[in-house]
Amino acid sequence: MTLSKEIRDKYQAIIGLEVHAQMLTASKAYSNDKNEYGSKPNTNVSVITLGHPGTLPKMNRKTIDYAIKMGIACRCDISEFQHFARKNYFYPDLPKGYQITQDTTPICSGGSVLIKDDEGKEKEIGLTRIHMEEDAGKSIHDIDPFNTLIDLNRAGVPLIEIVSEPDIRTSTEAYNYLSEIRKLVRYLDICDGNMEEGSLRCDANVSVMLKDAGEFGVKVEVKNMNSIRNVQRAIEHEIERQILAIEKGEKIYQETRNFNALTGETVAMRTKEAAMDYRYFPEPDLQPIKVTQEHIQRITADMPPLPNELFKKYVNELGLSEYDAGILTDQKHIALYFEDIIAHTDNYKAAANWLMGDVKSYLNEKAIDIREFPITAQRIAELIVLIDSGKVSNNLASQKLFPVMLLEDASPLSLAEKNDWIQDSNEDSIKGLIEEVFAENPDEFERFKAGEKKLMGFLMGQLMKKSKGKADPKSASKLINEMVES
Ligand code: ADP
Ligand code: MG
Repeated sequence: MTLSKEIRDKYQAIIGLEVHAQMLTASKAYSNDKNEYGSKPNTNVSVITLGHPGTLPKMNRKTIDYAIKMGIACRCDISEFQHFARKNYFYPDLPKGYQITQDTTPICSGGSVLIKDDEGKEKEIGLTRIHMEEDAGKSIHDIDPFNTLIDLNRAGVPLIEIVSEPDIRTSTEAYNYLSEIRKLVRYLDICDGNMEEGSLRCDANVSVMLKDAGEFGVKVEVKNMNSIRNVQRAIEHEIERQILAIEKGEKIYQETRNFNALTGETVAMRTKEAAMDYRYFPEPDLQPIKVTQEHIQRITADMPPLPNELFKKYVNELGLSEYDAGILTDQKHIALYFEDIIAHTDNYKAAANWLMGDVKSYLNEKAIDIREFPITAQRIAELIVLIDSGKVSNNLASQKLFPVMLLEDASPLSLAEKNDWIQDSNEDSIKGLIEEVFAENPDEFERFKAGEKKLMGFLMGQLMKKSKGKADPKSASKLINEMVES
C-alpha cells in the first residue's frame, strides 16, 4: 500500500528533537583525560574514566561555560543552582555502570531556536531544556567478525543535550532546525558540529494525528542518523509508516526505532515496555554548581555575533537580499571576513559579490578555508574602492588584479599602477582609438551605422584590445554611439 496525497493530507505530523553535542573542551567532563577524536583506542582512559572504585569525578568548568553560551544564544533561563544525577544502566561501553547527567535541574530551560518553515517564513521552535552529561564509550561491531571491540576514549566526553518542544511539524522544519543548531554551536565554538563523526547526534521523536484531533498521537523515537539529510529522510519515512499503520487499523506503540540509511527505512529496536528504569538519584561525588549572575554577564560580554543577528543586520540595515545574507552568515568565518570588508567600505553589495564570487571560487578551487585565504579583507575593500573610483573596471579587477593580489600583498592601486592597468577615461584618447577601430573595420562600421546594434560587442572588443583593456567601458560605449551618429 502506498500513501496517497489525499490520505497523507488528513494527518499532521508532530516532531520533537533531542540533540547531543560533544563539547570542544581539551579534557573530559569529569577527569583530566584528553577529549580527542581519533586517538589510538583506549589511550585517553585514566582510572576515573574507567570508573575504578575509589576514584572521584571532578567537574570541567569549560563544559558549564559552553552550556551557558548555548543557553544565552537560545535565550534560555540559566539556572543559578543545579546538581548532577546518576542515570544507572549497564552497558559494556559504560564502565561506571551509570552516566553522570542532569535530571531535575538542567542548566538551561526554555528559550527557542528561530528557523524557516516550509514556506520560508520565520518560526520559533521552543526548547524544553539544555542539560550537561557525559558520553559513553564506543562499541565497534564491524572490525572483528567474532567479537565486539570497545574503545573507551569517548567515555566521559562532555555533552550537552538540547531537547526541543514538540513544535516541529515537517521533516523540512526538522532539517532547518538541525542546520540552525549546527550553525550555532559552530559560531559559539563549542562543538565542531560534525554529524558523520558523531560529535553532533540527533534522536527524532515523531507522531502523527488526524488534523482535527485534539491531542498528539503516540510518539516513536528514531535513532542512528548520521547526517542532517538522513534525519529528514528518517522522519519522512516514519510519518508515512505511521499513517499507513493507522489507516490499516493498527495501533502505534511507543518504541525506539533504528534508521537504516541504505534502505531509508526505520526498524523497531525496543518498545517502551522494555524501557529501562534508570533509577536517577543525585550524584553524591560532585558538588552542586552555583552559577552567579556576574558569571553569566561575563560570558554574555564575550559572545561572538550570532548568525541570526547578522542575517537581520545584512537584510535590514545593509539592504542585501535574504539569499545573500543567508550565504554570508552560513559559516562564521565567512561572516567575520565580510564584517571586516565592510568596516573599510560601504559598498555592501560589492563586498558581498566579491566574497561570494571570486573569493569563494578561489576557496573552492583550492579546497581551503577563508582563514587561509591570502588576501586580507582590507585589501578586498581597497579593490572595491578602486573600482568605484573608475580607475579599473570590474572585469580587469576580476581577471587581472585579483590573481596578482593572491600572490602579492600590496595595495591594489599600486599593483594596477605597476602593471599599467589604470583605466583610461580620458575622452580624447579613447576617441582617437575608436577612430582607429572604425578605420580598420570599415565593413563593421557601416553595418553598425546602418543599425546592426549587436556589432557593438565586436567594436568594443577591438577597442579593448587596442587600449589593452584600459579604456573605461562606460564612456567608450557612449562615445562609440555618439561618433557613429555624428
Ligand atoms: P520521554 O519522557 O519519553 O523522554 P519527553 O516528554 O521527555 O519524552 O520528550 C522527549 C522528546 O519528544 C521531546 O523532544 C519532545 O518534544 C518530544 N515529544 C513529546 N511528545 C511528542 C509527541 N506526541 N510527538 C512527537 N514528539 C513528541
Ligand atoms: Mg526524555
